[in-house]
Amino acid sequence: MKPTRFEKWIIKFIPILLPILSAILCAIAYLLDEFAEISNKFILWLPFGVILVLISMTCGILIKKLYFGAHNDALTGLYNRRYFNYKLDDEISRIKRTQSVFSLILIDIDNFKKVNDTNGHLMGDEILKKLSCILKQSMRSIDIVARWGGEEFAIILPETDLNGARTFAERLRKTVEKYDFGLQVTISLGIVSTCDDLTLDELLTQADEALYTAKEKKNKVVAYSKFGYCET
Ligand code: GH3
Ligand code: MG
Ligand code: MG
Repeated sequence: MKPTRFEKWIIKFIPILLPILSAILCAIAYLLDEFAEISNKFILWLPFGVILVLISMTCGILIKKLYFGAHNDALTGLYNRRYFNYKLDDEISRIKRTQSVFSLILIDIDNFKKVNDTNGHLMGDEILKKLSCILKQSMRSIDIVARWGGEEFAIILPETDLNGARTFAERLRKTVEKYDFGLQVTISLGIVSTCDDLTLDELLTQADEALYTAKEKKNKVVAYSKFGYCET
């Protein structure tokens, strides 16, 4: 959602324009009310009402665009890391309240540097976009997926234990392996599941370690449990 020239202009001048416009409108309304011989108050106030509604609508649309830009990754349209961290924090609080469980999956594209070096960055970007679509299509509406960084993605699976997350991750790995990107693309996945008193940092460290173990072989799913790492 790229801002138009008009929207860019408004964003630039809105802090000055809005107070000035409001002051002028108030002054005009006061003068007309005080000195003009207008008996019908509705005709007097209607234009001001319309102008205020238009200003509020423009501000609302702009706020929506800014909100989208602040929470979403420009290339893939997925949530960005900042928003994902908020959601992860929320999910940790939720499971503490409800005594439930959720799983976190970190995903890394295998040998992506080679893909870029051999086929160019544009092809690399296309693969990132296609993979994002596959991730979105593979998930339930309550799941949250984000672009974690460069060629890395993260998924929160609420109400899903380690076994459920392993099944999901293995299905995803196979889907990507079989998908026709125009060249062979594979992903590695690290999973952690929580019902313990884990902090956000501990959770991320465990998921990262599981992913690191998966990357030793590549095109693998590795899950972290308190008994150690297990490969799917
Ligand atoms: P590994 O299998 O160990 O993960 O190797 P790798 O090559 O995937 O990992 P490495 O960290 O060496 O390289 C990641 C590459 O991802 C390097 C960088 O050029 C590429 N990359 C990161 N962000 C983007 C992007 O937005 N677009 C494109 N085309 N490439 C990107
Ligand atoms: Mg990486
Ligand atoms: Mg990689």
